[in-house]
Amino acid sequence: MTAGPAPAVFGELAGQEFVVDQLRRATEAGEAMTHAWLFTGPPGSGRSLAARAFAAALLCDRGGCGECPSCRQVAAGTHADLLLIRPEGLSYGVRQTRDLVLKAATAPVYGRWRIVLFEDADRATEQAANALLKAIEEPATRTVWLLCAPFADDLPTTIRSRCRLETLVTPRTEAVAAVLEREGVAPERARVAALAAQGHIGRARRLATDSEAAGRRGEVLRVPDQLGSIGDALRAAAGLVKAADAEAAAVTQELDEPEREALRRAFGEGSTGKGVATALRGAAGALRDLEDRQKSRATRLKRDALDRALLDLAAYYRDVLAVQVGATVELANEPRAEQIRKLAGATGPAATVRRLEAIMRCRQRLELNAAPLLAVEELTLALM
Ligand SMILES: [Zn+2]
Repeated sequence: MTAGPAPAVFGELAGQEFVVDQLRRATEAGEAMTHAWLFTGPPGSGRSLAARAFAAALLCDRGGCGECPSCRQVAAGTHADLLLIRPEGLSYGVRQTRDLVLKAATAPVYGRWRIVLFEDADRATEQAANALLKAIEEPATRTVWLLCAPFADDLPTTIRSRCRLETLVTPRTEAVAAVLEREGVAPERARVAALAAQGHIGRARRLATDSEAAGRRGEVLRVPDQLGSIGDALRAAAGLVKAADAEAAAVTQELDEPEREALRRAFGEGSTGKGVATALRGAAGALRDLEDRQKSRATRLKRDALDRALLDLAAYYRDVLAVQVGATVELANEPRAEQIRKLAGATGPAATVRRLEAIMRCRQRLELNAAPLLAVEELTLALM
C-alpha cells in the first residue's frame, strides 16, 4: 500500500509516523472499524492530540482535511458527534460515567460515527471503570470509544484487552522543534525549548512562548548550585515548592475565570422577574459544584507542576552524569553547559547517580501524597 502525505488533521503530531499510519489505515477501513481504542504514551507525547485527530479523520468526508466545518468543529470541541471527556480533578466518578455511557449510545447526528474521546481514562474510579467496561463490551453499532492514558497498565485488564492499543513514543527533539517552528517560533528558540522539554510538546511550547514559565524553570535549575549549607538546602526546597505553586496558579487562573464567567452567563446574571429565586438557588448549587471541581483540579495542577520541576532537575543531573562519563549526547540544558561542566568536575558519577535516585524517590513519595515541602526538603538535603 502506498502512503501519500498524512491527512492534514495529523499535522500537529510530532514524531509519531507509525501511529499516524495505523490511524490513517483504520480511517480508510470504514465500516470494519474497531470500536474501542486506547492511546498511550508518555506525558506530552500527544495522546489526546492523536485521539482528537483520529476523531476528526473519522468524522470528515475527506479523511481529515483539517479545513471543512466538521474538522474545524472537532478541533474546537464543538462537533455534535464528538463527546469530549476531560476529567479535571484527580478522579472521575461513576455517576458521570453512567451519564456518559447513556449519551454515547445515541445515534450520530451527522456523520458515520458517534465518538467518545475520554482523556486521562486512568482517572476513572474503579466503579466508573466498571460502568465503562459494560459500554465497551457491548458497543452501540455506531459508537467509537477513544481512551487515553499514560500506560496501558493504568487501566483494568478487562478494559485494556478490549481496546486496540496505539502507543505513542517520546518525540525526538527535532520533531518537537519543527512543530514549534511551524507555529512561528524562531528556530534557535524552538530547539532550546524542545531540548529542555525532553519530548513534551505542550511544555516546549510554553517554555518557548511564556517568559515567566521559562524564568521559573531557570529558578529550579539554580537549585544544584545553592546547596552550600543545610539552611541553603531548606531555602532551596521552599523555593522549589513556591515556583511549582506559581506555575500551577498561572494555569489555574487561565482555566478558572472563563468557567465562572460561562456559568454566570448560563444563569442569566442580572435578570429579574418570576423564577429568579429558583434560578438563583440553581446557580448557587452549580457554582458550588464548579468550585469543587476547580479545587480538585488546582490540587492536581500543583502536583503536576512540582513533578515537572523534579523532572527538570533530574534532566539537569543526567546532563551532569553524561559529562562525567563522557557520553556524546546533546545536553538537555545546553545553555547551562558551563555550570553543568563545573558541577561534573567537582563530583563523581556515583554521587550523581545517588542524587538522581533521590529525585525519583521524592517523586514517588509525592505520588503517595506526602506533604510537598517535607518531601522536597528531604530531597534538597540529599542533593547537598
Ligand atoms: Zn475535513
